Amino acid sequence: MNSAYNQIKNEGVTADIIRAIQNVIGTNSANLHEPVFIGNEWKYVKDCLDKGMVSSIGEYVEKFERKIETYTGSKNAVAFVNGTSALHIAMVVAGVKPGDEVIMSSLTFVATANAVSYVGAVPHFVDVCQKDFGIDARSLREYLAEIAIFKDGNCINQKTGRAIKALLPTHVFGHPCKIDSLSDIAAEFHLTLIEDAAESLGSFYAKKHTGTFGKVGIISFNGNKTITTGGGGIMLTECSKIAEHARHLSTTAKQPHRYKYFHNEIAYNYRMPNLNAALGCAQIENLPFFLQSKRKLLNLYAIAFGQIEGVELFQEPKHCQSNYWLQTLILDEDLMVYHEDIIASCLDVGVNVRPVWTPLHLLPIFSNSPASPMTITNNLAKRLINIPSSAGIA
Ligand SMILES: *Cc1c(COP(=O)(O)O)cnc(C)c1O
Repeated sequence: MNSAYNQIKNEGVTADIIRAIQNVIGTNSANLHEPVFIGNEWKYVKDCLDKGMVSSIGEYVEKFERKIETYTGSKNAVAFVNGTSALHIAMVVAGVKPGDEVIMSSLTFVATANAVSYVGAVPHFVDVCQKDFGIDARSLREYLAEIAIFKDGNCINQKTGRAIKALLPTHVFGHPCKIDSLSDIAAEFHLTLIEDAAESLGSFYAKKHTGTFGKVGIISFNGNKTITTGGGGIMLTECSKIAEHARHLSTTAKQPHRYKYFHNEIAYNYRMPNLNAALGCAQIENLPFFLQSKRKLLNLYAIAFGQIEGVELFQEPKHCQSNYWLQTLILDEDLMVYHEDIIASCLDVGVNVRPVWTPLHLLPIFSNSPASPMTITNNLAKRLINIPSSAGIA
């Protein structure tokens, strides 16, 4: 195809995309993801202010944890100041040590790899699956079979000599990855499974909530996530001992006492404040409505994009229920070269779209990290566009 033809095609598709998005969102805000406050948010936050319980003491933190346990079916939930700190402590309680490698995808938010780095471990990037943007189970098994050997029951990367300690998949944009196959691989290669479910509150794989498959999982409640606590995160685990240790580490490892300050580990000030938890308690009451709205939005986009050639709207795999945190367009390969042009043109007219993150293996800060061949990741990075996805639109 010659470039003049392609240029015209690009302009046509860009105009089609803008029109489709504008038709769906109408006069609603075109921001990518905005919080929606329609319930008891004011009441519960005011209650904190009235009682003077805004910080580390108050009833809402535990209330919020119990609500998340009930919703996700997880035995224990521990609230943190944000998803990143929950992920950091997840590494600690999962026993990830300095010099260990942690297998993760490159197509995720930088926090996933940062948390691994915080404990002195090394992110080891692997390729993703075209269908759900998560770690590709089949190519991971082949890759591990090639690079891994077992020494005293531990999985060792024979190329680096380091222990491969954990497998850390992300449910990208809230869409569940093939967590059952990944769980099998983790068992096969003696890896601890830790889930970055930061984006996937309300997403289920075969009716089981994401973030509850691994030894630990985390969810984020940042301002742009499906529900928000302003800033916040939570750790999920079936193991009560791990939950207790995580809670201890998030509160400076202070041993309970009437007046004595005695700390038995070097720890962190990572506990979610009461004020944020109050907001979370109200937000989770709205979650069923948010999920319904986001699904409605998907259906509107499906109609709007149904006729547009060269652009596909992501839809959840059969056995999954996605929260559709971020709605996602996938460009055909012949439009890859116009990926950034299309995004810039949308921004020019006030339609807030964004590309997927720069794959982490391409960031200079992770240039020393091992990586598998990145065929699908590199390809998808030039084809994905997130479009306005707030629950308030539909
Ligand atoms: C949002 C997010 C995080 C971090 O959560 P914060 O609450 O922003 O610290 C981690 N991983 C992924 C994949 C995320 O999207």
